[in-house]
Amino acid sequence: MILDCAIVGGGPAGLTAGLYTTRGGLENVVMYEKGMPGGQITQSSEIENYPGVTGEVSGMEMMASWPQQCQKFGLKHDMVEVKRVTKEGDIFQIHRGDGKVDEARSVIIGTGSSPRRAGFKGEDEFFGKGVSTCATCDGFFYKGKEVAVIGGGDTALEEALYLAKICSKVYLIHRRDTFRSAPNTVKRVENTENIELVLNSVPDEVYGDKMGVTGIRVKNSGGEMRDIEVPGVFTFVGNDVNNQTLIQENGDFLCEMNEVGQVIVDLSMRTSVPGLFATGDMRKDAPKQVVSAAGDGAVAALQAISYVDELLNH
Ligand code: FAD
Ligand code: NAP
Repeated sequence: MILDCAIVGGGPAGLTAGLYTTRGGLENVVMYEKGMPGGQITQSSEIENYPGVTGEVSGMEMMASWPQQCQKFGLKHDMVEVKRVTKEGDIFQIHRGDGKVDEARSVIIGTGSSPRRAGFKGEDEFFGKGVSTCATCDGFFYKGKEVAVIGGGDTALEEALYLAKICSKVYLIHRRDTFRSAPNTVKRVENTENIELVLNSVPDEVYGDKMGVTGIRVKNSGGEMRDIEVPGVFTFVGNDVNNQTLIQENGDFLCEMNEVGQVIVDLSMRTSVPGLFATGDMRKDAPKQVVSAAGDGAVAALQAISYVDELLNH
């Protein structure tokens, strides 16, 4: 059976695409998601900027109902990783991690992005043993203890605020003296008593013992070293685009990409390959917001419906 639409990724973009394609009349739509649906926002302790969602709502809580809403209209979810998407003639091939190959007339890809490593000594060695990229997942291990947070964007500052509620003290280590984060968030951080700003400083090394991390050494712009004794180090230094599924056997991408590995799309989320749509954090100029990822998913779905209709009936 050839699917009308294959959706790769089950974050806000993929789930919204699933809702709109199935509700809009496409049959046989499968969403491939390698983990639990919901995407990276499920790692966020609090979401304040999704319209209509008010009060202290975590990303996990907000996303809980999205898959059920899609399933009601017939979206199927395959919990499998997609290794590669290819196209022969009018038909796409979905190369699954379990070795099977599915076929589809259209593909909406929304594989998002993944946390980047900061690149200091000890980061890989102690990853999962004191070094983490998820405060919601690991913050509780440091209840009443001191932790370090690295980064100066929205994620670092918001997660520092979250950790400050659980931990006795948060050292916020940032390589500059101004932040990338929203001004309101910066103000909240500056007004939080148990957050100490360690500015113009970069991590030099995370160290520890068999039990895990015991501290982090940071170097300031003057070259001075400072040891901060903490059992937990959280890094929030940005994300890399998950574009691997578009890489073909010869190393080329299936569609046109920009210089930082994002998919080039037009305002209808169309890529350079007919029938292939890209959505959410992985597409060029993405605002990297849940609301925009969901919007992309809806736009791509409406386009996919027209594309499949044209393919089958004209
Ligand atoms: P993602 O959410 O990244 O989802 C992609 C999905 O694809 C994932 O579930 C992944 O498992 C799956 N996937 C990837 N590769 C494959 C594959 N090969 N096969 C199968 N499945 C695959 N935005 C806001 O608007 N407000 C906030 O408050 C906010 N807070 C944030 C806090 C944190 C800690 C983080 C990390 C992000 C935050 N963001 C926030 C940004 C927001 O989460 C993203 O912009 C949004 O999730 C992007 O959605 P997406 O669907 O494009 O991708
Ligand atoms: P980001 O905005 O790219 O910020 C990354 C931070 O890490 C920057 O401050 C950067 O420093 C620093 N950094 C990068 N590499 C480093 C290294 N090797 N060592 C030390 N520091 C390093 O990433 P993000 O905060 O994850 O946000 C990603 C996107 O999601 C953004 O568009 C953001 O607005 C969005 N987001 C939105 C919300 C929200 O709306 N509430 C919440 C979270 C995320 P420099 O500043 O010096 O470059």
